[in-house]
Amino acid sequence: MIKALNLRNINKRYNETVALSDINLDIEDGEFFSLLGPSGSGKTTCLKVIGGFEEPDTGDVTLFNEDVTYTPPFKRNVNTVFQDYALFPHMNVEENVSYSLKIKKIPKNEQKSKVDEILSIVKLNGYEKRKPSELSGGQRQRVALARSLINRPKILLLDEPLGALDLKLREQMQFELKNLQRQFQITFIYVTHDQQEALSMSDRIAIFNEGKIEQIDTPNNIYLKPKTAFVADFIGTTSIIPKDFAKKSLKYNYGFSIRPENININSNIAEYDFSINASINDIQFQGSYYKILCQTENINLTALHYLDMKNPLNIKIGDNIQLSWNKMDITNLDD
Ligand code: ADP
Repeated sequence: MIKALNLRNINKRYNETVALSDINLDIEDGEFFSLLGPSGSGKTTCLKVIGGFEEPDTGDVTLFNEDVTYTPPFKRNVNTVFQDYALFPHMNVEENVSYSLKIKKIPKNEQKSKVDEILSIVKLNGYEKRKPSELSGGQRQRVALARSLINRPKILLLDEPLGALDLKLREQMQFELKNLQRQFQITFIYVTHDQQEALSMSDRIAIFNEGKIEQIDTPNNIYLKPKTAFVADFIGTTSIIPKDFAKKSLKYNYGFSIRPENININSNIAEYDFSINASINDIQFQGSYYKILCQTENINLTALHYLDMKNPLNIKIGDNIQLSWNKMDITNLDD
């Protein structure tokens, strides 16, 4: 496997703020890799260190086996797509996309054929003469992508590139981005705070929290085998059972997390490894299922009730119910 990126012991502070704390990361050539975490967790700073827009205080940045820690952005074989697209407003689509080719003094006819090719890939033929202000958000995003891809960078850095789009368009662009990445076989390093986006697009994900990486894993493992309470809580809905409660009430020696789809309501408890009494705080209709928010002592648990003609919802807020689950469905958490 060829390594596209290697970060070793990266630390970065802004005065008192620790933006990155001992970051270690390896990304393979051709991977779709996401940096996922809440706002302020260090994702953008990490991307800037990779792109050369920020220097780390300590540590090394290696791209394709070349140390680039102090190499300026334009000498790295990477390109960046920002959320605000950063298009030149006075230039039309064609001029925006061919800008870097012009700087490199590529012959005019070669520029033209490259621009035609890339515009057809991002489905923007016929829009060559339009200014950014005459395009929709999704089209502007495609221009920004075309402009970044035209140089065939080995790595594309994307900072919340779909953040400004509405949900439907975002889902469509997620699909198109993934296709582009497959087609070009470029390494994508993708910053997002949207867990669904990261889970659906990525080969692997790094979960950021307060400048640290909590877990690096496939989407499947991030969801099914979260290593820490933070990851379990950040990804999807989950219930966290702390160690002291687990010991006292369930005779189990570890803190753990459990997904709502694995918690059964008022089922035959003899069939399950764990069972507790809880009261219902709220019932939220979600379309194809109800979310049942429950509480026992100071622990919150979420269960689901899927809509089914043969299985109507026969519980209400305030009811006491039995919640049961199996050991194979829980994930032990690190202390
Ligand atoms: P994210 O991309 O996950 O939202 P950032 O990498 O932008 O997080 O920020 C990480 C932390 O560093 C935050 O606390 C942020 O306020 C701080 N920070 C980022 N850039 C600067 C800067 N230029 N000056 C001072 N603090 C900054």
